[in-house]
Amino acid sequence: MRAAAARAEDASVSSALMSTLTPRRGAPARDHRAELEADLLQATRLQALAMRLVPGADCDILLRDILATGADMLGAPKGCVLSFEGDETCLRLAVAQGLGGRFVAHFEQRGWAALCDAAAACSPAGSATLSPAEDHAALRAEGIAEIHSAPLLSRDGRLLGLLSHCFEAPRPLQERELRALKTLARLAADCLERCAVERALREADRHKDEFLATLAHELRNPLGPIRNAIELLHRSRSAEVGGTAALLERQVQQIVRLVDDLYDIGRVARGQVELQRRRQMLQPIVAQAIENAGAMLHAGAQQLLLRQPEAPLWVDVDAQRIAQALTNLLHNACKYAEPGAAPIELRVEGDEDAGEALIRLRDHGIGIAADQLERIFDMFVQVDGPQRRARDGLGIGLTLVRRLVQLHGGSIEARSDGPGCGSEFVVRLPLAGG
Ligand code: ADP
Repeated sequence: MRAAAARAEDASVSSALMSTLTPRRGAPARDHRAELEADLLQATRLQALAMRLVPGADCDILLRDILATGADMLGAPKGCVLSFEGDETCLRLAVAQGLGGRFVAHFEQRGWAALCDAAAACSPAGSATLSPAEDHAALRAEGIAEIHSAPLLSRDGRLLGLLSHCFEAPRPLQERELRALKTLARLAADCLERCAVERALREADRHKDEFLATLAHELRNPLGPIRNAIELLHRSRSAEVGGTAALLERQVQQIVRLVDDLYDIGRVARGQVELQRRRQMLQPIVAQAIENAGAMLHAGAQQLLLRQPEAPLWVDVDAQRIAQALTNLLHNACKYAEPGAAPIELRVEGDEDAGEALIRLRDHGIGIAADQLERIFDMFVQVDGPQRRARDGLGIGLTLVRRLVQLHGGSIEARSDGPGCGSEFVVRLPLAGG
């Protein structure tokens, strides 16, 4: 049980907080029409605020928004949102409005639970003996006579924090103001809860990236000695051993490719890939990719038709990385080809007007459904279906290709008329000027 939470839920605090949430009797009769209009205006503002709580919106900005709306509605320009983060037992200041630096520094040092105690003590039912004089002095120096707070509760009833509005003079809140405060507290609690979930997701994602990086690193280490051993086997005069060595080599090459992709994707995600860019011709890079994919083209008895301009296409790229991306696309074109399919077509052209070089790789393989054309570039996505099974891979190749191309200021898109109709991948790279 969080100590500060216990204190915030403690009768003294909640009486101060909750007494303000209880409508007072004996209010004078008011003009019904004016009341309805004010209610409507308030509901409209709260609804507009709720609409901004969309996933992905910045938590701090939303909390500031909620605080500012409350300050405006209650006529209390100073206030704050206090929250517990994760498993923390201490309240921390999430956002503040209008509070002076000395006041904030005082409660940063004392702990924000002390503010709750001081607020409770200065409530009509409170007793000043509850909290030290220094906290009351800090409140007085800030010109705060009363604090109205509402607890921020998660949907399953956990205390996540407090939404507090500070007043220069004690005054009871009207019924409408209490309703607004409750609604704002609900919105702030939802916002805190959602941000906690997003933080946890980001953390899990970071752990996953770290795990993959370690895995790739650990898998790479034994591959060197295994390749050396295969090299030795190749020297044997025995045909049987030679055959086994060739088989081993093909399998190891496959593992090397997967591990290299895994290794690179982690580095790209962490921004650790440094491009060795220089101005050079695109055509030799394409030739390098074809050579890299030679074994796979050969193994699948795949024909490749290459069309590229004779005039040099100048690009400012890391040749190795672009060749790696194109090799990946060529591997896929082979992997997802149907037996006896028409040749793969690789077309390179320059679009001077757009200032781009275009590389189009068209295969006549299993094709891609329209709703998967974007998804396949996401990490670990593999289009499922009877045709896909038994084709190896981790679903990271295209993610890596897209990231590498984007690092060069380029783009890639997939096109297909659907399953069974083949696919086309179009890579665009900026042409180098001069
Ligand atoms: P992997 O090939 O390892 O599964 P990729 O990231 O390279 O991973 O590709 C993701 C998915 O995109 C593949 O699983 C496959 O479903 C689809 N795909 C990629 N290239 C092609 C292609 N040329 N033809 C049909 N589907 C493809």
